[in-house]
Amino acid sequence: MTPTVLPLWIGGREVPSRSGRAGDVFDPSTGEVVRRAPFASKEEVGQAVAAARAALPGWRDTPPLRRARILARFRELLEADRDEIARLISQEHGKTLPDAAGSLQRGIEVVEFATGAPHLLKGERAEDVARGVDAHSTLQPVGVCAGITPFNFPAMVPMWMFPMAIACGNTFVLKPSEKVPSTALRLARLLHEAGLPDGVLNVVPGDAEAVDAILSHPGVSAVSFVGSTPVARHVYETAARNGKRVQALGGAKNHAVVLPDAALEFTADALIGAGYGSAGERCMAISAVVAVGDVAEPLVARLREKAAALKVGPGTQAGVEMGPLVTAAHRERIRKIIAAGVAEGARVVLDGRELHVPGGERGFFLGPTLLDRVTPDMTVYREEIFGPVLVVLRARTLAEAIALVNANPYGNGTALFTGSGLAAQTFEHEIEVGMVGINVAIPVPMAFFSFGGWKQSLFGDLHVHGMESVMFYTRTKAVTSRWPATEEKSKTTLAMPTHG
Ligand code: NAD
Repeated sequence: MTPTVLPLWIGGREVPSRSGRAGDVFDPSTGEVVRRAPFASKEEVGQAVAAARAALPGWRDTPPLRRARILARFRELLEADRDEIARLISQEHGKTLPDAAGSLQRGIEVVEFATGAPHLLKGERAEDVARGVDAHSTLQPVGVCAGITPFNFPAMVPMWMFPMAIACGNTFVLKPSEKVPSTALRLARLLHEAGLPDGVLNVVPGDAEAVDAILSHPGVSAVSFVGSTPVARHVYETAARNGKRVQALGGAKNHAVVLPDAALEFTADALIGAGYGSAGERCMAISAVVAVGDVAEPLVARLREKAAALKVGPGTQAGVEMGPLVTAAHRERIRKIIAAGVAEGARVVLDGRELHVPGGERGFFLGPTLLDRVTPDMTVYREEIFGPVLVVLRARTLAEAIALVNANPYGNGTALFTGSGLAAQTFEHEIEVGMVGINVAIPVPMAFFSFGGWKQSLFGDLHVHGMESVMFYTRTKAVTSRWPATEEKSKTTLAMPTHG
């Protein structure tokens, strides 16, 4: 049977794509094509932007409290649909059901934060900035905003964007990853059910053509992007050149520095979760361990033992700890990087390349891989692998480890494992990374803080969710007002007005 092509979601309803282009969506556990993602054309992106523009005046003028109530209802529907959404995520991405449910929960928390819109959008006010003069600022929507998202978090990353954007009074066009299109369409339907007016959220699955149509469309005012660094740079440069506000979150190479005084068993467990959870397909995955001093040997031994014991299989199967990779092409790329690492002299502690999953012969499985004695010049260190491969580097001191992390072009997340407050304080102060964990391997900030990296992990100024997203999705208007009495005396002055 030919797999069905999914629809677009424009103006509050499903619209069949007429682009004539579509891509296969796989179940990575079986290798089967389960459905096809439409590749929206430039014209179809134009239709989505037109629907968002048409909805803008009504939505912008809807009181924040009413917008928040629709989001609160959306949250309830998400809770009720949690298992089904997790199943969809797992089916198209491959991650395990508990992992999928956890990532959805992180998205729901952004919706919870967004329901605080009436409070978040209050602005500031000062009375008597000069005699008889008051000043206040208001936060107004930016206009039509767009989101372009990666394959690895089909619900969470889109939910970093559109709930805050629409809470702030904007309308939205979402271009989800063509590898995992179903979840975004389901979220749009739930929001519709929650009472969102037609056209406030539109979803156009597609590839680079749809992205470039968004970046060049004069009707789009702001673009949020999450994905790999080369595309993030392209999105940032193109959108900025076209006069749009833009935040573009890129790739990562996250280091965990382990000091000799760390709680060893706890650290090894945390590193296994952060390195191999979601098969390493997380932008906050730990992919490089920097073992300081004599902790290296006992740490590598524990990591080996724990990684070898992980249960790999279909993400939807109970008891499975690690699922497959998203596509066969992605697995092939990672196999080649591992081979390059071996050829360049890394010590293979655990090799996942020949893993056999009974019944999963056609799935995109790759077992946990652990490479020791890796050096910064090796391909396995330089490339963002985005798979279940943990590499171990060695440093003599904390200062040497910090210098190594800071020399890396990425700056998304990092973690220090130690029993020393002084070491933690030094690390926190000196490390050039946007999100830092102290004995916390995956320091993803909660929804009421903001999420974003430094250096080549983020192009733009403002991070996602938390207060920085309120700033991103609003324009500040500063109003200065005076109400002179009709009989008030005045005189003409051409000098620059000063107050006080
Ligand atoms: P990707 O860059 O290939 O794709 C991201 C989005 O860009 C998709 O919607 C895709 O359709 C589009 N795209 C791809 N190539 C394009 C091109 N040439 N021109 C225009 N658009 C294009 O990323 P991915 O493989 O889907 O996701 C994995 C990457 O995302 C990793 O690098 C990971 O680190 C990164 N990521 C970063 C964060 C973060 O917060 N910094 C979060 C999640 C994922």
